[in-house]
Amino acid sequence: MARRGKNNGRKPPLCGDRLVDLHFKIMLDAIHYKISSIKKKKILTNPDEKNLKKRRATLCGLYDPETKEVFLSASKCKHPTKMSMISSLIHEIFHEIMPDTFHKRIYQFERILTVRLSDKQKRYLRKFIPRHEVKTGPRPSE
Ligand SMILES: [Zn+2]
Repeated sequence: MARRGKNNGRKPPLCGDRLVDLHFKIMLDAIHYKISSIKKKKILTNPDEKNLKKRRATLCGLYDPETKEVFLSASKCKHPTKMSMISSLIHEIFHEIMPDTFHKRIYQFERILTVRLSDKQKRYLRKFIPRHEVKTGPRPSE
């Protein structure tokens, strides 16, 4: 039996900052046990937006708390690199983790964790972003 080191790429990488690692683990718990799917879509808008002008506006990401789907924009304008999508993924995951917090706090988590997570941790999160794009969704809620 070949031993390929301690990890084999399965165990989530930790950075050593216990508070950052705790948030990283909470994000992974949300991905594994709460979020139903992570989807990528070219043109992303919010069908539930009441304001017509805002409803047409394209978004970087969206979380649907009813279906528990995360949508990320596949548009190059919104996310020039695949790594730039990580920040939006963090943001949308925090909508699941902290549904009742002020939106500006979610932006703060997004910014802080984008800086503080290690490159390995960000690459680990990147693996959950699918390669293919979906054509439909998010669905408007009834
Ligand atoms: Zn948001």
